[in-house]
Amino acid sequence: MIEGFGSDSNIYVFDDVIVDTGTGNNIEHVRESLKEASLDISDISLIVNTHCHFDHIGGNIHFNSKLAIHEKDAPALENGDPIATVAQMFGRNIEPQKVDFKLTEGDKIHDFEVIHTPGHTIGGICLYDGETLISGDTVFANGGFGRYDIGGNINMLMESLEKLSKLDVEYLLPGHGPSVDNGSEHINLSNRIIKGF
Ligand SMILES: [Zn+2]
Repeated sequence: MIEGFGSDSNIYVFDDVIVDTGTGNNIEHVRESLKEASLDISDISLIVNTHCHFDHIGGNIHFNSKLAIHEKDAPALENGDPIATVAQMFGRNIEPQKVDFKLTEGDKIHDFEVIHTPGHTIGGICLYDGETLISGDTVFANGGFGRYDIGGNINMLMESLEKLSKLDVEYLLPGHGPSVDNGSEHINLSNRIIKGF
């Protein structure tokens, strides 16, 4: 895990895959962190973006890798849409990015399965390997969950949290904040809190 630096999302690396790339503002920090894991940017052959927001996708341009994102969030990247990517919120422009793989529910990325979890954005995904959940901005530790007012939908987010609460999650690796053990307990707490809204 490369902990979010500045306004970067957390970044996760498994095998030759990087999940989210931060804003790109702190690419030297990302490079250094990869080096500590004996990795180089050129070792990464696939970027998976959990969703289309700028703090998760801004660093994509620094990699010579294939790019994967859910089919419903792909147009925001392909069109370089400053609103849907929230680049504008970060005071930034965004160039269109070529999407190589448009993901859908059930796709496999090595040991991880794509779970479509709309709500924060319409094409948000989590990655699950039966034990670990990389959860993007859908669900955070300690009862947190993503905003649904920047391209999202609260009803979809509620359904997604309900869906995630049915999984057996040991390690929760979210897009922001700490990663935690006993992931299912954290997800269940988020699920209870959102239902109280
Ligand atoms: Zn987001």
